[in-house]
Amino acid sequence: MKLRSITKRFGALTALDHVDLDIEPGKTTVLLGPSGSGKSTLLRSINLLEKPDEGTLDFGGGPIEVSQRLSDQRIREIRRHSTMVFQQFNLFPHLTALQNVTLAPVKSRGMAKAEARERGIEALTRVGLAEKVGSYPSRLSGGQQQRVAIARALALSPDYLLFDEPTSALDPELAAEVIAVLSSLASEHRTLVVVTHSLQFARSVADRLVFLEEGKILFNGDPERFFNSEDERLKRFVSVVG
Ligand code: ATP
Ligand code: MG
Repeated sequence: MKLRSITKRFGALTALDHVDLDIEPGKTTVLLGPSGSGKSTLLRSINLLEKPDEGTLDFGGGPIEVSQRLSDQRIREIRRHSTMVFQQFNLFPHLTALQNVTLAPVKSRGMAKAEARERGIEALTRVGLAEKVGSYPSRLSGGQQQRVAIARALALSPDYLLFDEPTSALDPELAAEVIAVLSSLASEHRTLVVVTHSLQFARSVADRLVFLEEGKILFNGDPERFFNSEDERLKRFVSVVG
């Protein structure tokens, strides 16, 4: 996927300033940067949860100008390429784990119920929750709830899995369960884009590291090069956060 010149303004504030970024298939890209640097806005721009003011997105079929009036059909097509996993899980409390996972495939993709159920069980098994298919979110730990949210994303088989600080609402021990799932997805060469504040996570799973500040990319490359950078700004970030 190629993002070119992606720009997003909120009134006088430029949250993203002509961002160019290539997301390589089969790799894990980690987005780092201080609070307010534009990480979430960039992630949300990929599936148009946030509509950029300028720029193009290219999922392989040629650049799509985001500022033009896109038809609902076109927006749905763009959204199908990626699925977002949020910090706060966003599960439906009145649905079981399996019902949470099968809802979107059945309702918005028109998948047959039996197939959705089969794929849902497979996805929940994949994240280590085979025993919990019938449990309601209130009976699950935070880490388990987040793994249901990951299974829900997996069941849609998107090209890109987008994670916005998937562990920051969790205690370290529960975060570790979620990180283990992300690491194993990364090792299967799925395409992940992960916003995180955890340098440890970035270091252990990122194939490519992107550092944002004030809506601009200041670094884009090999994680080890980032951690050993001589650049004063990057050194300061690593020493303060790490
Ligand atoms: P954090 O690490 O705190 O989550 P972030 O890097 O994800 O920060 P963004 O949420 O992308 O930062 O925000 C980038 C800038 O855009 C910030 O200055 C923020 O206040 C502003 N912003 C984001 N969303 C909106 C909005 N809906 N309306 C107005 N300003 C916004
Ligand atoms: Mg954010």
